[in-house]
Amino acid sequence: MSHRPGRHFLQIPGPTNVPDQVLRAIDNPTIDHRGPEFGALGLRVLGNLRRIFKTEGDVVIYPASGTGAWEAALVNTLSAGDRVLMCRTGWFATLWQEMAQRLGLMPQFVETDWRRGADVDALAAALAADKAHAIRAVCVVHNETSTGCTSRIAAVRAAMDALGHPALLMVDTISSLASIDYRHDEWGVDVTVAGSQKGLMLPPGLSFNAISAKAREAGKSAKLPRSYWDWGPMLAANATGYFPFTPSTNLLFGLDAALAMLLDEGLENVFARHDRHAEATRRAVSAWGLETQCAEPREYSSSLTAVRVPEGHSADALRTVILEKYNMSLGNGLGPLKDRVFRIGHLGDFSDLSLLGTLGGVEMGLRAAGIPHRRGGVQAAVDRLAGN
Ligand SMILES: *Cc1c(COP(=O)(O)O)cnc(C)c1O
Repeated sequence: MSHRPGRHFLQIPGPTNVPDQVLRAIDNPTIDHRGPEFGALGLRVLGNLRRIFKTEGDVVIYPASGTGAWEAALVNTLSAGDRVLMCRTGWFATLWQEMAQRLGLMPQFVETDWRRGADVDALAAALAADKAHAIRAVCVVHNETSTGCTSRIAAVRAAMDALGHPALLMVDTISSLASIDYRHDEWGVDVTVAGSQKGLMLPPGLSFNAISAKAREAGKSAKLPRSYWDWGPMLAANATGYFPFTPSTNLLFGLDAALAMLLDEGLENVFARHDRHAEATRRAVSAWGLETQCAEPREYSSSLTAVRVPEGHSADALRTVILEKYNMSLGNGLGPLKDRVFRIGHLGDFSDLSLLGTLGGVEMGLRAAGIPHRRGGVQAAVDRLAGN
């Protein structure tokens, strides 16, 4: 491909644009992961990560994509044949359920129409019907990246508490951590799963579990085979900042820089920035006369917006035009939403001007691809961002 001036706009909902400070931190000589310098780095990133998860408990880091941390959450706490309750909020919830099945668990799925977050009433009804407490875990995707819907985790916790159900609560925050308000301890989550390449502004390659004392306790009798993912040796080595095997040293340099940036901006400000960009994006979508995939306003995602294309038009053709003409990548529709939606990622290292560039590319693309729409989406976003 010939040279394209300007930066590529990587507006998929992960991996996200990596800030220069993080790239420069990664671009340092690899150090001895058993040497004296490393322990201080390990202790610092593990300490700062707790502040991001809002937990006083343990956090572990795997050199793996988010999928690895899904597996770690399940194999460290459950046994073959255990029932787990899940909610099919979209494609990522489906993949987690398929993994649970392959590991020998017995997932029970609560369905949704893929246009809202987890159905708290249906989850509560399934738990209420489980008088024998055979369900060992409830697994929810906090921010369903395939649909742009955010589930109400505090409400799931409240429903479990109201029933006195002892199942573990596991939450996938891969596309919400450090973008959307999340509170591991306060919401009584037992295992939180996260990844590096979305709100944390890093390249892909790291993933995380935040772990409650109850989850550690469940691990003592859990019988699923585990070796590489075993929390035990990891936590033992982490106590002094080290790892039981070779960590992704240079990604940890990047993580150290990214955590410093997030804590310097202040998490509450980071969340407010994402909320504001998401709202400006929805104003643009509505001005275009298009519809968001999320149909439940209290569950609109602040990290991405999935937009439906009108019947008879192709979201993938639109994305191709935008990539070729404007050098911007948008997220594709996943599973049954293939070609029906495109997804605008507005998370991570992102500003008002990056949003306006992104929406400008979408609006020009809609015109170039011949998708029926009204003009003025970018203007609506400017009005929101600048105040009318
Ligand atoms: C991206 C994503 C995943 C998959 O993570 P990988 O890093 O690709 O393994 C899982 N769940 C959600 C909600 C995601 O956004």
